[in-house]
Amino acid sequence: MRLSSLFTSQPAVSSALIATTLFTSSVSAQDRTTEQGEAQITDPNQECTAYSYAPVSAALAANEFPAIWTVADILPNDTNAQAKYQSIQSQIPNIQPKGTQPASLLGDFSGYSYPSSDPDCWWTYDQCTTPKLAGLSPDLAAVPEPDTLGYGFDDGPNCSHNVFYDYLSQNNQKATMFYIGSNVMDWPLEAQRALADGHEICVHTWSHKYMTSLTNSQALRRVLLLYVMQAIKLVIGVTPTCWRPPFGDVDDRVRSVAHALGLRTIIWQYDSNDWREGTGSITAADVDQNYENLISRAQNGTFATGGTIMLTHELNNFTMAEAVKFYTQLKSAFKYLVPMGVATNQTQPYVETNYSLPSFDQCATNTIIWSGSSSGSSSGASGKTNSTGAADRASFDGLGMLAAGAAFVGFAVKLLA
Ligand SMILES: [Zn+2]
Repeated sequence: MRLSSLFTSQPAVSSALIATTLFTSSVSAQDRTTEQGEAQITDPNQECTAYSYAPVSAALAANEFPAIWTVADILPNDTNAQAKYQSIQSQIPNIQPKGTQPASLLGDFSGYSYPSSDPDCWWTYDQCTTPKLAGLSPDLAAVPEPDTLGYGFDDGPNCSHNVFYDYLSQNNQKATMFYIGSNVMDWPLEAQRALADGHEICVHTWSHKYMTSLTNSQALRRVLLLYVMQAIKLVIGVTPTCWRPPFGDVDDRVRSVAHALGLRTIIWQYDSNDWREGTGSITAADVDQNYENLISRAQNGTFATGGTIMLTHELNNFTMAEAVKFYTQLKSAFKYLVPMGVATNQTQPYVETNYSLPSFDQCATNTIIWSGSSSGSSSGASGKTNSTGAADRASFDGLGMLAAGAAFVGFAVKLLA
């Protein structure tokens, strides 16, 4: 079966696509209203200049979403979210929060006493991925297929990712993109590009907080995952069924929330530490070494009976440039670089049934032709309502501020250098 037939789209979207395709021929590099127009911009300064996208502006104006980059409370007027909260309460175990929401990227669990038996399968404590609580599936930390790398990137959409996404497209390479809801709201056309390019989209929370540090009340009432799912649905037109906890910080309580929302938990086996480059003692050479170690392991047969996952990011120009720098070596060291959904045969990656991923065998035997699917909400926005811009992002306390744009200026230059 051809992938183009697997990647079907709604009739209404098809009409929009046809119209957009016709429009694209006359689109200029300055078009900031369509996914296609935005994807043509390769000047990072221009890419990272905030723009307005009508569906997002309208939703924010109607208070349908929490403030961007905040811990997401269920909104008082959001009866759907409140009903969802009520419906999942009984599925959440009475596990206490761990530590406090840290100001630093590395968490703050000082003074928190936790039994060495790891009763909650807390990944941050001992990389536990097999829940102790009945009814929860193990996290996906490695992929089952031999010589296979589950290929994906966290923290997008990055406003200046066009050169990186162009590179992936030129190599016909698909990946799993773990998107932060606030970034999706800030950069909706960049988010749409992932689906248009045929990547798989998973959830990476609304505002990138340590999930286990939320109090019970917060975890239940501030359903960080629900709003990012709704943001992705609003902007891209699909509802993901997978998520990755920021910093890997997950326990059985948080897994239960995710499970109740229909999200599979995806972790990793190796950390490139690309996200920490320039912080603490982590240098670019360290990140290079982490990539090289993974490549060496692949070459020496470490993954001959089962594949793996390494944590990598589209966080900034460095992390994206590293991905490009090592792509060819990864591609030759592993037999297969595929999205997580392909590696695990999740052929229906979204709640909506009109999108499909190929099976692993279809990829492995080259019996499919990769192609992008439709942009779910590419009807275009010409509204000139309030921008979701720098003011929102400036309040974020760390990682997301890096992701806000300025740090990535020069990425295109770096890649070409
Ligand atoms: Zn992250």
